[in-house]
Amino acid sequence: MTDTQVVTAAEPILSYLTDMDGVLVHEDHLVPGADKFLAELRANETPFLVLTNNSIRTPRDLQARLRHTGLDIPESAIWTSALATATFLDEQRPGGTAYVVGESGLTTALHEIGYVLTDSDPDYVVLGETRTYSFEAITTAIRLVERGARFIATNPDPTGPSRDGSLPATGSVAALITRATGREPYYVGKPNPLMMRSALRRIGAHSQSTVMIGDRMDTDVVAGLEAGLRTILVTSGISSRESVEQFPYRPTMVVDSVADLVGSTPNPFT
Ligand SMILES: [Mg+2]
Repeated sequence: MTDTQVVTAAEPILSYLTDMDGVLVHEDHLVPGADKFLAELRANETPFLVLTNNSIRTPRDLQARLRHTGLDIPESAIWTSALATATFLDEQRPGGTAYVVGESGLTTALHEIGYVLTDSDPDYVVLGETRTYSFEAITTAIRLVERGARFIATNPDPTGPSRDGSLPATGSVAALITRATGREPYYVGKPNPLMMRSALRRIGAHSQSTVMIGDRMDTDVVAGLEAGLRTILVTSGISSRESVEQFPYRPTMVVDSVADLVGSTPNPFT
């Protein structure tokens, strides 16, 4: 079977990719039933990866954060845009150099693939999510991009959620560097299907037998679709059931929450 073949509902589902925020958790709170859903996947030995566009934290930090909310997810089942970016750079230019504006999730991922982090003539400027942007770091990034460093960003999200309202996210800071340099970054995270493909490879899964679950039509569903996966939209996060028809593409299935999938895995389409 090739990726270009049309998949039908009857074809087996062997593995799952699932977005994190809005699907399994709302910031620090469990989405009711998410624990039961993941427990079922584990009981059935269905391979899965939890995806997040947020590059601030390492998988170990995320594991601890998720355990706090009541979700026991192994570190190896967490796939961040920082890991996807590091995997991409390792394939493109192994043993390269980068100037990083970001936090430990990103710097750790780049160290682990053997990258040297430097502000001296780096191959790349890599921008990730951070809460501690400095004028000096942004200035350095701008000058390095002007001098020819390739501009990469972990994810295009303009804002992120917080209890008090929106926070500026990677896409907004990337826009600042783009405005100053005239250069657009290459974004590795969702909706780039590259994020799905590297996740599939990580668990040895194939697109035609994998489901992507997400709460956003404009990132999770489109990225899953473009990578050849079947998709489930949960309405426990950003996108509503009503909004689906406004998009030129649709998910394979819409449910209120992952709690509705309990009892129907691995193949909820049959
Ligand atoms: Mg989400």
